[in-house]
Amino acid sequence: MILFKKADDLIEWLDTQRQNEKTIGFVPTMGALHTGHISLIKESEKNNAITVCSIFINPTQFNDPADFEKYPVTIEKDIEMLETAGCDGLFLPGVNEIYPGGITAATKLYDLGHLEGILEGKYRPGHFQGVCLVVELLLTISNPDVLYLGQKDFQQCMVINRLLHLMRKEERIKIKICPTLREKNGLAMSSRNMRLSEAERAKASIIYESLVQIKKELIPGRELFILKEMVEKKLAHAGFQTDYVEIADAATLSSISIWDGKQKLVALIAAFLNGVRLIDNMIITE
Ligand code: AMP
Repeated sequence: MILFKKADDLIEWLDTQRQNEKTIGFVPTMGALHTGHISLIKESEKNNAITVCSIFINPTQFNDPADFEKYPVTIEKDIEMLETAGCDGLFLPGVNEIYPGGITAATKLYDLGHLEGILEGKYRPGHFQGVCLVVELLLTISNPDVLYLGQKDFQQCMVINRLLHLMRKEERIKIKICPTLREKNGLAMSSRNMRLSEAERAKASIIYESLVQIKKELIPGRELFILKEMVEKKLAHAGFQTDYVEIADAATLSSISIWDGKQKLVALIAAFLNGVRLIDNMIITE
């Protein structure tokens, strides 16, 4: 695997690959890699001649400075995992390489429509503007054929889809959304899980169990706020501080109050356990 710290070096190398008609898959991450990230790398390798991963903890997408400070860093282990997985290139830029002009307070740059103010957008103001800022830069540098994203960040996939549209790149760059990898107890793998104790990781499986329960109890005509309240109570009882439990149209993320039996629905949860923010989601219709 070739390690690139400078964008220009990566651009030059990828240009050569393209001249040799090699397709490029790109997997952006914030490091502290786990098997979920590696599943994206493997998916890219299956379908592209070249797979590039990036590791950059993007300061502009953290609405909470403490969360940024505490974000886990395991770069040596990450490099080992990527080497073992057979990744071809790693882009590991410093903050100055991505933001040479410094980090300015997030100003609204991208028109994300209703996605901006709901769910993650509502509870993490400015988060998606920061995501778009860095992803646009990373895509401009890597200009891949396929961009690999995890369903774990359901709303982020929709935001990046919108970003490609705003960049007029939706024809050039395809998005492939990969399934969420989970621990044995159902807990969605996440870099932030490293901040949980073993007992907390066991407890955090309640989020997955709640999604499964919503799926089981979903019936056409039923008031969905009843299911949401049931899960909110369960999470509060177990010591979680819940940002949201939502049941939404999977295509638009608009909140749904009664299921018509046809719409494709997604259930989404965001909750803190001992100061660690966890998110998960599940498609709850067939
Ligand atoms: P992150 O490093 O958390 O920004 O994640 C980088 C990419 O990996 C994003 O597209 C995530 O959605 C994806 N990802 C994170 N966790 C998982 C998981 N458990 N399973 C599959 N993909 C994941």
